[in-house]
Amino acid sequence: MDTHSLPSKLLDTAVGELASLPGIGRKTALRLALHLLKQPAEQVNYFGNAIIAMRNEVKQCRVCCNISDSDTCEICANPNRESSTICVVENVQDVMSIEATLQYNGLYHVLGGVISPMDGISPGDLNIASLLERVAAGDAKEAIIAISTTMEGETTAYYLYKKLSAYPIKISALARGVEFGNELEHTDEITLGRSIKNRTPFENLFGHKG
Ligand SMILES: [Zn+2]
Repeated sequence: MDTHSLPSKLLDTAVGELASLPGIGRKTALRLALHLLKQPAEQVNYFGNAIIAMRNEVKQCRVCCNISDSDTCEICANPNRESSTICVVENVQDVMSIEATLQYNGLYHVLGGVISPMDGISPGDLNIASLLERVAAGDAKEAIIAISTTMEGETTAYYLYKKLSAYPIKISALARGVEFGNELEHTDEITLGRSIKNRTPFENLFGHKG
């Protein structure tokens, strides 16, 4: 089907926006747009408003940089979480993955990516300074570096290890096993749960000391 000869400019614009989403081609975008066109107007308003509200109102937790509806996320605000442990992850999906294991009761720190000179991402672009401030100021006794084992992930993990070594805390990494080479979000819950339970001192994994 030629999606470039649409009978409506409005439809064409909507299709263009839908097609800008990851994994959505123009054909799928057209199918979705036509589906929305068939829905009751209030349903589509609700749909549109949900996306607008999410974009405009979701905040970043001022402590851990997780996404949150309030200034402090539910995890940081929960007095039953062990505030002595901070699990450092790449993105908010990783927080969700680790939470889904039900094996971790500490806090998090979301870096917002990994160091990647090729993509122009340097340590200053990530939430690393706020992590170090937290460790310097807070009651953290352990930092768990839970970053994917891609090349950029390893670089970032070692960078963090060096920085965190300046503080009197335990630095751990996820146990390596089945998840090696996978990104955290693709790791199944049982494996991820085990690797966080069986975490090891960081220096044991990499065979060098800071
Ligand atoms: Zn938080």
